[in-house]
This record gives sequence, C-alpha cells and structure tokens, in this order.
Amino acid sequence: MKIRTKKIISLALALACSVSFFANSSINASAKSSKKTSNNIVVVLDPGHDTTHLGCHYQNFEEGIANLYIAYYCKNELEKYSGVTVYMTRYDFGCAYGANPDSSADCLTGRVNFAKSVNADVLVSLHNDYDPDLDLSQNGAKVIIPNPNFKPACCQKGMALGQSILTELTSTGLKVNDWKLCPNGTGIVTRDSDNGKYPDGSAKDYYALINKSKSLGFTSVIVEHGFCTNESDRINHLSTPEQYQQLGIADATGIAKYYGLKLKK
Ligand SMILES: [Zn+2]
Repeated sequence: MKIRTKKIISLALALACSVSFFANSSINASAKSSKKTSNNIVVVLDPGHDTTHLGCHYQNFEEGIANLYIAYYCKNELEKYSGVTVYMTRYDFGCAYGANPDSSADCLTGRVNFAKSVNADVLVSLHNDYDPDLDLSQNGAKVIIPNPNFKPACCQKGMALGQSILTELTSTGLKVNDWKLCPNGTGIVTRDSDNGKYPDGSAKDYYALINKSKSLGFTSVIVEHGFCTNESDRINHLSTPEQYQQLGIADATGIAKYYGLKLKK
C-alpha cells in the first residue's frame, strides 16, 4: 500500500501528462449535479495515492497512475447505468481540495470530506498492493471493509458490496488474496487499529479512509486489485490500459449489481 519515495515524484509528474485527458472529465459539471434524489445513488471513486503518498512502485508499475486509470474506466462504465451519480476524488496527482501538500493525512481527510459533501452513499478506494517482504508469490484481489465496531451497518454493507466487487474481479482471472496480515481465506477482510478507539471504546478501523468515513456516517471500502510484486498479476492485469479497463469494468459491474442498477435504455 505505501512505499513512499521522493525520487519517483518527477517520474510520476511526467507520466501525469500521459493521462491528463482525465482532467477533461467534468468536475465542474459533476459538482453542479450533486443534488441527490431519493432513488439516486452517489458513488465516490477514490483513485488511491497522490504526490504526498505515492503508493507501490515496482519495475515499471506505478500505483498512483494505475489507480487513476482504473477509476476513470470504472466511472465510465458505471455511468452507463441509471440512478447513479459518480464522482472521483482526484483527476491528477496533486493533493486535492487545497489540503496541506506535505501531509498525506490531510489529503486523505480531504477525500473523505469531499465524499461527505456530495452525500456519498459509498466511498470506494481503488488500489493495488505489494508485499512488503517482497514475497513475490503473494497475489490476487481483496477488499478491505469496515470492521463491525461502532456502526455495524457499515460493515454489513461493506461486506456485501465487497463480495460483489470481488466476484467480478475474480472473473477477470485474478485470484482471491489470502492477506497474510488478516488471513481468513475469503478476500473480504477487516483490519483493526492497534490503539485507536471509536467513541464507544471499540477498536477503530486501521485505515483512516475507512474510520473517518464511518465516523461521518457512510461506508468506505478499499479494493486491492492485484499485487504489483507478483509477475502474473503485473503482466496479465496491471500493464496496459486495456487491462486497467477490464478491472474498472469489473469494479463498476460489482457496484451496479450490489445496488441493483439497470443499464440506461
Ligand atoms: Zn495503495
């Protein structure tokens, strides 16, 4: 999730130019349509990482770029359905929403606050993984969901949504990852904070995005598509725009099926 290395900032910025067309996606137009109707679902897609927190990089793989591609394709696919409004938390590599560009924590908080501001039903954070011990056999997809503490409805929703997304991702050929930090064999995992507590004294979720969203009253999940440190995942799923598109479509299909969305006529 987090290898932070200043030396690749310049590379990331250079590569940002290659995906600058994302910026053409209309943030302004989307913001104007933020009014939520009773039967409209608001989904906020969060392409993980930015220049404050670059994510995993291994060989020619740069996570912040891959996540942006996947989110872009996911948004395009999800917008083929009616009854859903889709936002992205970033369209380039900067720290969004005017947060302190030296603070990855502030940038994360900005993403959650943005989701709250548009009445998000769910915040879906899109990532790719690496094995910190460089165990190259670690592979596959998983979804990190809220733990059952404090607001158990967030956990229940995350579990159902996460399973729907994971089912679609494995249909692309990705395996289910049995995360060694929280192994349970299902690919649907929670991770508790070591020390942080919710107001009721129960253990906080480890990931800030998830615990901040829960505190604000909505569900957030983290989708880890594959391992950049695994050769099969990297070559077969994380190397080309077409492969990122396949993952984005799988995410969107999983989200649409969870909500029972219908394709536009
Ligand atoms: Zn990540």
